[in-house]
Amino acid sequence: MKAHEGMYIDGAWREAATGETIAVVNPADEQVIGHVPAGTAQDVDTAVRAARAALPGWAATPPAERAARIAALRDVLVARKDEIAETVTAELGAPLAFSQAVHAGVPILVAGSYAELAATYPFEERIGNSTVYAEPIGVVGAITPWNYPLHQIVAKVAPALAAGCTVVLKPAEDTPLTAQLFAEAVHEAGVPAGVFNLVTGLGPVAGQALAEHPDVDLVSFTGSTAVGKQIGATAGAAVKRVALELGGKSANVILPSADLAKAVGVGVANVMGNSGQTCSAWTRMLVHTDRYEEAVELAAAAAAKYGDRIGPLVNAKQQARVRGYIEKGVAEGARLVAGGPDTERARGFFVEPTVFADVTPDMTIAQEEIFGPVVSIVRYEDEDDALRIANGTVYGLAGAVWAGDEAEAVAFARRMDTGQVDINGGRFNPLAPFGGYKQSGVGRELGPHGLGEYLQTKSLQF
Ligand code: NAD
Repeated sequence: MKAHEGMYIDGAWREAATGETIAVVNPADEQVIGHVPAGTAQDVDTAVRAARAALPGWAATPPAERAARIAALRDVLVARKDEIAETVTAELGAPLAFSQAVHAGVPILVAGSYAELAATYPFEERIGNSTVYAEPIGVVGAITPWNYPLHQIVAKVAPALAAGCTVVLKPAEDTPLTAQLFAEAVHEAGVPAGVFNLVTGLGPVAGQALAEHPDVDLVSFTGSTAVGKQIGATAGAAVKRVALELGGKSANVILPSADLAKAVGVGVANVMGNSGQTCSAWTRMLVHTDRYEEAVELAAAAAAKYGDRIGPLVNAKQQARVRGYIEKGVAEGARLVAGGPDTERARGFFVEPTVFADVTPDMTIAQEEIFGPVVSIVRYEDEDDALRIANGTVYGLAGAVWAGDEAEAVAFARRMDTGQVDINGGRFNPLAPFGGYKQSGVGRELGPHGLGEYLQTKSLQF
């Protein structure tokens, strides 16, 4: 795998402040595939200065020209799609077909949506005797996780660029090669120097330096709730804007009238995709007591079919963490009907597709984000019970409702404390706002709502 030795700052690959590096490991075979620089506060400062210097020019660039650069970026992502998929597969371990379709495919859709939105967004509107301007918030510090390495980057950088902001990105240390490839794409797309900058490095070093930097106007973070709280507190103390996309424990509510086989099949696939490393995954399957055993059988069979088609987890720490949760599920009395903590694979950070039945809402595996291929099936007695269980965690990121009648499912979904719900399967919409209720986060990504995060408003009365 190709790895740059430097940082992409102010339009060029520049030497890092120290010679420290981070090894990048392929989680499927545990081989080191490259090294990237471990950035420090000094590198972050250099990058923030470049972003600040580039801000006035980019903010004043007409939206149509910003749109043209984002469209060009989209075109580079299309042209380099295979390379992107191979890179994500090498450092995240996802099966190549999944990387092609999702890890490379979705960012193309999102970049395309922002090329269009940059050109059409109402950056200026007349309200009564005022003209209200939506102006870029300034320099953005973007901190992203490894689970969808390119999507998480594009979901922040594309709207930031559309808004007229400049960016310093600190990607996850597990997946920096995809971020380097993205920086190459930005360069190829003709985005002016300093508008986008990349500092690779460790979270508590480079990430923290970026979150604390006084000249960053907005910190946009996706990752764990623990780090998100810390970043929120730092931003609050500095009266600085912050966007947090954190964890989830989303409910897949299967109402009695639903097509059970479809709801269970799609539900299991939703969790197993990306080996369960999806913040919006429907990890709790809620089934009416009358159809419970039937659903358990269907889910166990669906999980067993995955076999070798599931990729590894990103690293040994995540593997140990997920296995720990599976052991805890067994210890707390849940019934293991597929998978389990052990795997026969000699190499790679794999966890078997796992399904638990007889999960009660208060169990650890029904409350905490596992971030692995684990489905918990919870029984409910009636609709109010289902709603209580669905809303009974600290999270509220996503979810699903299935019913024979769409209106019935919509009525239930409206009562859920969560940011995004798929009705009878739904379909990915790159323009739909994505983000959390409760402790799942602050702010929204994607579409016009996502663009709004990078803007501040000014009103002039005349
Ligand atoms: P993490 O929060 O530690 O890492 C996410 C990003 O934050 C990375 O770029 C990391 O380098 C950076 N970071 C870490 N510490 C930081 C700090 N002190 N200041 C600034 N930036 C910092 O997440 P993780 O350890 O990689 O994963 C742990 C758990 O987080 C997972 O098991 C999962 O539950 C959750 N997670 C959620 C998402 C999501 O999409 N919401 C994504 C990844 C992980």
